[in-house]
Amino acid sequence: MRVGIGYDSHPFAAGRKLILGGVDIPHTKGLAGHSDADAVAHALTDAILGAAGLGDIGRMFPDTDPQWQGASSIDLLNKAFLKVVDAGFRFVHADVTVIMEQPKLAPHLDAMKAKLARALRAGPMNVSVKAKTNEGMGWIGRGEGIAVFAVATLSGGDRVP
Ligand SMILES: [Zn+2]
Repeated sequence: MRVGIGYDSHPFAAGRKLILGGVDIPHTKGLAGHSDADAVAHALTDAILGAAGLGDIGRMFPDTDPQWQGASSIDLLNKAFLKVVDAGFRFVHADVTVIMEQPKLAPHLDAMKAKLARALRAGPMNVSVKAKTNEGMGWIGRGEGIAVFAVATLSGGDRVP
């Protein structure tokens, strides 16, 4: 059994869609960044890659490479998952915490879990997504952006030296 951790943060920006866990969430602004700036998918991708010892999302899908311009981050999560499987691992479970003040994510958590689990060829029971505020403190509290932590466990890896 291997455990990996992932972290991501993005600032809010006007005129952007808010995509989290592959779900289009109605809000007055979205997240700035490369591709769709889906911080949940990015943190989870780093968690599975970390557990497999396969580096990180920036190394696997460089934002200087035009083939990843405008890519769906859920698709990148799936591509990373396939590399993890190729390396001899099986996805077991992930737990994700999203830290943001607004909007409330509770109505969207089930849809996010379903999208993330599908990208990992797992059932929604194997992906946990939780949302917290930062109690008004700091840059998250001021609504400047969001942070996401993710932990993933993988089994296997016997073929990995
Ligand atoms: Zn990101």
